[in-house]
Amino acid sequence: MHDGIARGDAQSTEHRGRAGAVEDGPTADGYRRALDAAHRHSSAWLESVGQRPIRPDADADAVLARLRRDLPDRGQDAEAVVEELVEASAPGLMAMGSPRFYGFVIGGTYPAALAADWLVSAWDQNTGSRQPTPATAAVEEVAAAWLLELLGLPAGSGVGFATGATSANLSCLVTARDAVLRAHGADPLEGLQAGPRVRFLAGDAVHTSVVLGGRIAGLGAPATVGADDEGRIDVDGLSRALEAGEGPTVVALQAGDVHSGAFDDFAAAVEVAHRAGAWVHVDGAFGLWAAASPRLQHLVRGMADADSWATDAHKTLNVPYDCGVAIVRDEAAMASSLGAHAAYLPAVAGVTDPYDRVPELSRRARGVTVWAALRSLGRSGVIGLVDGLADAATALADGFRRIAGLEVLNDVVFTQVCLAARDGDAATAALGEWLRAEGTVWASSSTWRGRTVVRFAVSNHGTDAEAVRRTVDVVARGAAALGIGG
Ligand SMILES: *Cc1c(COP(=O)(O)O)cnc(C)c1O
Repeated sequence: MHDGIARGDAQSTEHRGRAGAVEDGPTADGYRRALDAAHRHSSAWLESVGQRPIRPDADADAVLARLRRDLPDRGQDAEAVVEELVEASAPGLMAMGSPRFYGFVIGGTYPAALAADWLVSAWDQNTGSRQPTPATAAVEEVAAAWLLELLGLPAGSGVGFATGATSANLSCLVTARDAVLRAHGADPLEGLQAGPRVRFLAGDAVHTSVVLGGRIAGLGAPATVGADDEGRIDVDGLSRALEAGEGPTVVALQAGDVHSGAFDDFAAAVEVAHRAGAWVHVDGAFGLWAAASPRLQHLVRGMADADSWATDAHKTLNVPYDCGVAIVRDEAAMASSLGAHAAYLPAVAGVTDPYDRVPELSRRARGVTVWAALRSLGRSGVIGLVDGLADAATALADGFRRIAGLEVLNDVVFTQVCLAARDGDAATAALGEWLRAEGTVWASSSTWRGRTVVRFAVSNHGTDAEAVRRTVDVVARGAAALGIGG
């Protein structure tokens, strides 16, 4: 039937289109064969992830060399497409789901969440508006309520399922901007042009995604007010900055610094900011989850008094990419800033729609994976998950401290461990490279407090005592091989 279109022969196209639909179009069997192949390869991948070297064997250019070709003129059977994709990609896959993958802050995926994600794709419900997709909208609403309860945040807050904490931070900052403008008598629909200048303040260790969110929201990069050694906002500095100016103000705080895992002093910072009439936003991409654990909740004391929060489900909760969560105490403010309106969109009086809480209009029902993860874990499972990640980080740090020539630079309060060689930056950098090439573990190199570090972020639900033992063991071997401490 493509030939018919290519010939531009209207009659022939129509005829062949009808006749060809059965032969050429996707049939139930076509779906089944393609999905069976994907299932087979997915299972094989998941079974290999804990055994194989974590680093990929090939870089992107090498994979590109296998894949690059002219856009094919003729199509190919779906099952063969799956086979070709797997075959070409295999050498370039990183075992990010391994319990010994500590790069960035990533997280693996739970079986229930992954299976739910497959269904989300198969169902293909555009969960932007509630009325046409009742099932997935309802599942997400339950997931949202459970999240608020687990994280100790006010019931009734607006919850948007965004692509990640970057877009969740953005969603919250846009809402914050409009709310503080409105509070100062300006009309957010006129944008920033007509209103007074909006001040945007954060600690020195503010995450790059909050800076980006501020820039996209028109606030610019935040003015930084200082931070302590672990990256916690300097509350006196914040207080002085607030007193030094006036007008609409947004303050960004942080639950979980990407290097140290540190948490701002929310009780003090929120109080100071609210006294000045500021909106307080919390970036808690991975750290917000400390709130779910009775043992760790002291880290977030006072955090629930903020006005908005961003977190990720694809990090700590271990659902597949992508899934971030934007939470705003005043749901109406969220809908007024992020809501979309058009005659063709079926709005229902009295309720907001999923698209009222994120920047996207059309989107996948990604919150369904959150429901599945929470349903499979239960409250005790979530507590066990969060405590387990923190325990593994503590055990890693203890193990690293026993290796001659190495030191842990941060206070390990949550899931992050910054490792360095006493010999200096060159030795630390070499250790990071040695480890990534060796393949038992994968940890990112970074610079923190002016020193090169190898940063271990514990985010995978499978990082158990055995994973920790193997990790400490390979770090000791790496240090010995490089003559560190010897
Ligand atoms: C990961 C992270 C982000 C960004 O989240 P994405 O899901 O990558 O968009 C923001 N803040 C912190 C503290 C993070 O760790």
